[in-house]
Amino acid sequence: IGAEVKVTDTGQLELIDDEGKEHKLKKTNERSIRAMHPTSVKGVDDMIRLGDLNEAGLLRNLLVRHKEGIIYTYTGSILVAVNPYQLLPIYTIEHVHMYTDRRLGELQPHVFAIADSCFFNMRRHRKNQCCVISGESGAGKTESTKLMLQFLAAVSGQRSWIEQQVLEANPILEAFGNAKTIRNDNSSRFGKYIDINFNKGGAIEGARIEQYLLEKSRVCRQAPEERNYHIFYYMLMGMSAEKKKILSLGSAAEYKYLTMGNCTSCEGRDDVKEYAHFESALKILTFTENDFWEISKLLAAILHLGNVDFEATIVNNLEGCDVLASTHFKMASELLEVDPKALGKCLTQRSFQTARESVTKSLTSAQAVDGRDAFVKAIYGRLFIWVVDKINSAIYRPPEGENDVRQSIGLLDIFGFENFSKNSFEQLCINYANEQLQQFFVKHVFKLEQEEYARENIVWKHIDYQDNQRTLDVLASKPMNLLALIDEESNFPQGTDATLLHKINGVHKKSGIYIPPKNNYETQFGIQHFAGQVFYDSQGFLEKNRDTLSSDLIQLVEKSTSKLLKQQPAADSKKRMPTLSGQFRQSLDSLMKTLTACQPYFIRCIKPNDFKKPMLFDRELCMRQLRYSGMMETIRIRKAGYPVRYTFDEFLTRYRVLLKTSLCDPQTVKRCCESICENVLTGEGDWKTGKTKIFLKDFHDTMLEIERMKELN
Ligand code: ATP
Ligand code: MG
Repeated sequence: IGAEVKVTDTGQLELIDDEGKEHKLKKTNERSIRAMHPTSVKGVDDMIRLGDLNEAGLLRNLLVRHKEGIIYTYTGSILVAVNPYQLLPIYTIEHVHMYTDRRLGELQPHVFAIADSCFFNMRRHRKNQCCVISGESGAGKTESTKLMLQFLAAVSGQRSWIEQQVLEANPILEAFGNAKTIRNDNSSRFGKYIDINFNKGGAIEGARIEQYLLEKSRVCRQAPEERNYHIFYYMLMGMSAEKKKILSLGSAAEYKYLTMGNCTSCEGRDDVKEYAHFESALKILTFTENDFWEISKLLAAILHLGNVDFEATIVNNLEGCDVLASTHFKMASELLEVDPKALGKCLTQRSFQTARESVTKSLTSAQAVDGRDAFVKAIYGRLFIWVVDKINSAIYRPPEGENDVRQSIGLLDIFGFENFSKNSFEQLCINYANEQLQQFFVKHVFKLEQEEYARENIVWKHIDYQDNQRTLDVLASKPMNLLALIDEESNFPQGTDATLLHKINGVHKKSGIYIPPKNNYETQFGIQHFAGQVFYDSQGFLEKNRDTLSSDLIQLVEKSTSKLLKQQPAADSKKRMPTLSGQFRQSLDSLMKTLTACQPYFIRCIKPNDFKKPMLFDRELCMRQLRYSGMMETIRIRKAGYPVRYTFDEFLTRYRVLLKTSLCDPQTVKRCCESICENVLTGEGDWKTGKTKIFLKDFHDTMLEIERMKELN
């Protein structure tokens, strides 16, 4: 820890630590005091310049800066962003101008500098760029994404219609996909990748949004102090009285689906205002009045369905149930545009296909409630997908012909690593996604880089790092991996959570990654993730992965006259739907392919405290995040390494203007490159030439670009 040392009157040493706490020091411990490196006293913009290259130094640097209200710090070209939990005056249009067309490191670290660098590199190298924004819930990923987008829209040219459309997609996505949780008042409950397309001139041409794994269970259940998705509260607060009357809607307190968390309002969020914003955003994204009305009808139907009650019955000694007649039930069938009798039947009975005939079975009221919730989740999940598709149809313009060359910058804002007191199938999927992203980071920053040094004969002392490949192998790569076993068991009608666990035990017990349940009755198993151990409860895994609706409900939906309900893609009873994890894996694989083809940037968001409070820096909490993101090793490799590299030809093509032939007589391309570096990077000399490439530090790239601009002007 960082501290100030004082000598008391009695000659005893006293420490005042970075949090202002006083500690008396025993004589025997005096030797453990070490003087701070000067860089640690004031803090540095770029952590590779830290003298104290240890955890204490790293943590203190962020803390010292946080105290001064400086939230951004570089590690080379990687940005560390500590959530300030207050509005800072650093995102004005003046700041946009200030950071436009400046090289990374010329100015104070800033998210705008990363955005500018993406834009500049996209145009300089004619290569697509991506920015992976990671961090825990509440760390600031979504805010950073919005700031990147705001900057790119501003620098890409005059404010055009398409730019405005791209920006206004956000309030719609957040209305449907964000909610208040105990960790974050505006928590994204889905992942997204926004690919922004630019034309040759660097103006935004369009964008495409990919969404991942919306948390559907929230529509029916919320934990204490949490809310359902924002849109429900917006609607109930903001919709006109006449419209509400047609939909027979009241206030949030009247709906079971909105009150499970005992929390219907969210401090600092004006639901009325947000509803107005949402409505205007829909217009900008070309949703029609009719679309809007259809959406409202489905949302209202969901709320009414949530209030439907079932009454237990006993017929022929068999337990069954009936729908209790109510306006809610009547309204639900009306809004879904289905026959109430048919709806009632689907909710209380289930038909089965035996070898010879179709038989129906009565559901108990508990089963009916589960079936109803599954129906509601399916409606909401598909509504969300429909909304995203609709947004894409407004903002995405496919290239027109071969001359229409596009380049793109992709922004990934995906759920962070999760470890709750109870973890289920969703957490397994989310943490699997995080393992993939961590592997992408590890590959880019550690593996490929060190392999290249070896290939190019660069003298290099290997830097060790935590490789999470083994966890990925067990989860998804090896034959009979965990996700494959879950899928296999899901497709097997007799499969249960218990048979699944039994199979997993058989294959992975000795992997060292999978931690088997303690005994035969225990349903929890553990996984050794890069960010720590997580225990998952296997109960409900198969049900969640199958993610199917009863065939009765699917048929009901097919008979509905509601355009929106029917349009939903999965309302197809004949085809077998891929499992949830199957779909998720497929979209993640495709994301990884996209990312791999881009030049990547990384933003690591850090949550400084659990109280959403400004100016409060919980050192332990921060250290944990820095530790599992591999920040220490990252600083080490960025400090020792050469993250920027060009082939000699590429380098010479770009920097030929800097070649002073009067200084030497370069014989070869390699000599020319060296001559440029010797000339421009004097005193900052730690660059290397390999067999085919030249290797530079991030700041060398900045220096070269600045000199080149001077030469060209
Ligand atoms: P989740 O995984 O739950 O979606 P997240 O990482 O996306 O979390 P954000 O929603 O971006 O977190 O941030 C949480 C809150 O922190 C924001 O609502 C905002 O109040 C505050 N915040 C984050 N970044 C900034 C910033 N740069 N300036 C001011 N406030 C910020
Ligand atoms: Mg978010």
